[in-house]
Amino acid sequence: MKLSELKTGERGVVVRVNGHGSFRKRILEMGFINGNVVNVVMNAPLKDPIEYEVIGYKISLRREEAAMIEVIGESEALAAEQTPNRASGFSQEDTSCEDADILAAKMKALAEERGHVIRVALVGNPNCGKTSLFNIASGSHEHVGNYSGVTVDAKEGRLRHKDYEFILVDLPGTYSLSGFSPEELYVRKNLVENTPDVVINVVDSSNLERNLYLTAQIIDMNLRVVMALNMFDELEAKGDELDIKTLGQLLGMPLIPTVSKTGRGISELLDTVIKVYENADPQLARHIHINHGAELEHSIDRIKLLIQKNEDIRYRYSTRYLAIKYLENDKDVTETVEKLANRDEIIAARFEEQKRFESMMGTTPESAIIDAKYAFVKGALAETYKPCTTRKKRRNITDRIDGVVTNRWFAFPIFILLLYLVFECTFTLGEYPMQWIEWLVEKFGDFVSTYMKEGALKDLVVDGIIGGVGSVLVFLPNILILYLCISLLEDSGYMARAAFIMDKLMHKMGLHGKSFIPMIMGFGCNVPAIMATRTIESLKSRLITILIIPLMSCAGRLPIYILVVGAFFPKYGGAVMLGIYLLGIVLAVISAKVMSRFIKDDDLPFVMELPPYRVPTAKSVFRHTWEKGKQYLHKMAGIILVCSIIIWFLGYFPNHKKYDTVAEQQENSYIGYIGKAIAPVLEPLGFDWRMGVGILSGIGAKELVVSSLGVMYSAEEVSSAGGPDGDSNRDTAVLADGTAGEVVEGGNTMLQRALQKSITPAAALAFMVFVLLYFPCIATFVAIKQEAGGWKWAIGSAVYTIILAWIMAFIVYRIALLFL
Ligand code: GDP
Ligand code: MG
Repeated sequence: MKLSELKTGERGVVVRVNGHGSFRKRILEMGFINGNVVNVVMNAPLKDPIEYEVIGYKISLRREEAAMIEVIGESEALAAEQTPNRASGFSQEDTSCEDADILAAKMKALAEERGHVIRVALVGNPNCGKTSLFNIASGSHEHVGNYSGVTVDAKEGRLRHKDYEFILVDLPGTYSLSGFSPEELYVRKNLVENTPDVVINVVDSSNLERNLYLTAQIIDMNLRVVMALNMFDELEAKGDELDIKTLGQLLGMPLIPTVSKTGRGISELLDTVIKVYENADPQLARHIHINHGAELEHSIDRIKLLIQKNEDIRYRYSTRYLAIKYLENDKDVTETVEKLANRDEIIAARFEEQKRFESMMGTTPESAIIDAKYAFVKGALAETYKPCTTRKKRRNITDRIDGVVTNRWFAFPIFILLLYLVFECTFTLGEYPMQWIEWLVEKFGDFVSTYMKEGALKDLVVDGIIGGVGSVLVFLPNILILYLCISLLEDSGYMARAAFIMDKLMHKMGLHGKSFIPMIMGFGCNVPAIMATRTIESLKSRLITILIIPLMSCAGRLPIYILVVGAFFPKYGGAVMLGIYLLGIVLAVISAKVMSRFIKDDDLPFVMELPPYRVPTAKSVFRHTWEKGKQYLHKMAGIILVCSIIIWFLGYFPNHKKYDTVAEQQENSYIGYIGKAIAPVLEPLGFDWRMGVGILSGIGAKELVVSSLGVMYSAEEVSSAGGPDGDSNRDTAVLADGTAGEVVEGGNTMLQRALQKSITPAAALAFMVFVLLYFPCIATFVAIKQEAGGWKWAIGSAVYTIILAWIMAFIVYRIALLFL
């Protein structure tokens, strides 16, 4: 009977929990598992929720929830007692005990017996051998035919295996669950309404790609599934190779090879069904989500949340499944969904999401969902399935391109060539708009300084705000171009292949192929890169990726390298820069390896989707570029602006008018005090106190290091030219952005000459290393906190990078001293 049918004061023993995925899991976690006693504390006929007590806890369940729990009630146990010779653990000797105990024991025994009945549904494509499997397992003689559509309605058969009774249902064959044909609707209805305990997905192993498409749809429904890799004999005969274990992990279900003509594997299949039914091993059957891509997932989530407002639908359906099907315009699901209380809201949301998606991606959600499922299947098979090479097969365009770009010999050269092109575009094409922006900023600064009244406010606007933000703004074109290239690669489908070919390498670092794209994006700006880790399903890989992204040298650090390299190593510029980038990468690899030892291991494999190649639509490329660029702009409008003002303030006060030279004034400003305070820590690295100030200002954003060095050293250089205010400070602004190569005298900017005078080449090298590694900048720090889920990760990352920076800079400095 149902738990909801028990009255106040009665008790029952749980047999099983019906219903669906996450709901079912929650109920199980509350203690409603086979054999546990439930007391009804309060069940008034019209009252909802009902109050129960199970394993000592009081729990209230809604009536619909309680109806999903099957129990043995006292009345049932008593009725069964009248019937003699029932197999049960209950023995006559127990009469000395109290009646209540005997009854309880009886109930438990009955519950266990009932719990040993497993209802199994066979689902699969037509002609994959379901009926043969059904016959051989249950000993029936249903008609087997080598053509589609033999089984038109469900046949039921029973069998015993171990001490379990199986009720097998042979369902009609379908290629999909989209609800177009009566068979598809029939199968779907059966899965939802009769809630089989376990689904056996029968698959024709010799035709995996098509068969797994159905599997991908079953995965959406969040059922407990075991896959029978039927016709395994044919796969073997063809000489194909399949990594069954990995494929099972990727799909989140156990896979058992079977040959239903001969009965091979059937017993193991049934064993596995029992294991899954009893939840013996959570790794065996885990719920996975098929990733439909960021845009679709956004739409799915929106609709799912709206559907979830209706409590009672959750017991019967996976709301994610409903949302996906609803977006696909599925007729049957549309009917169900549009009966809900908030139907207007949901209808409007679907309309909006479909319109948004179509205008951006140039295709309907419906076809994109199908593509995503095939991409999932293709990705899973690419990792696990090797067709025998001597066989010729027809190939479509995507397959042909894949044949080249994932080819054993060509994959890496093509990949590196593309990466090279991306960086080349970023830096060479970016040069032009960079110069325009530089020019604009300079003119704007001039303009403002001519028309504003002399005084602190003018200095703040010209030097603090325009100088500070301007020196960062110049990098915007580089960043946008980088993201444009990345969006192009992503939307065309190539990035997925890049992740795929990098997967093996990344695994060696304890990461996942999907970690690779965010790492590349980190060369632009760490903030959007950290956001991009959201596509990584494994928490562990995601965390590590987030933590090593700060070691990817972002564009903000570039001006510092340009400055220092230009001043000290003009002959070996390229090599030194490459060395710095490589050092970041190498340290990232080592860090990842070390961290993967310490971060809790949930390293589950996930499918890397391989979507078909497509010409990207302009709209979606620009939208994606813009979205990433926006995060960078945000950083500029907020943190960089604030930090520029703070740094200016610290450098300007106190004693602004007291000294004759800017150098003296700087030295006696707040920033000078702070710089001197931390100088002893930096001394072993060969840095002077001004560099300490530069490093401090880089906490706001690394771009700021150059502009504040400009302020500090210009003071020294031009101190003779003018007073503490007026002209000399104007020069600092020019110096700050002049470092990108403008104000050149004898091949070097003033700042560069000032640096040459103040520090040694060895210290300069160490400085670059320090800047590369230390503290990830405020915006990244905040992003880490948000994405990794807690301050502890952000703080941990800050501490780690600062220590790493110090140690590496020290080593580099000491070694460099020997040679330079
Ligand atoms: P259904 O449409 O899924 O019910 O498939 P059937 O059970 O009717 O089987 C379709 C055809 O495949 C029949 O000719 C079976 O004899 C054959 N068949 C079923 N299982 C296997 C198997 O494991 N190996 C091979 N080689 N053939 C099989
Ligand atoms: Mg059949």
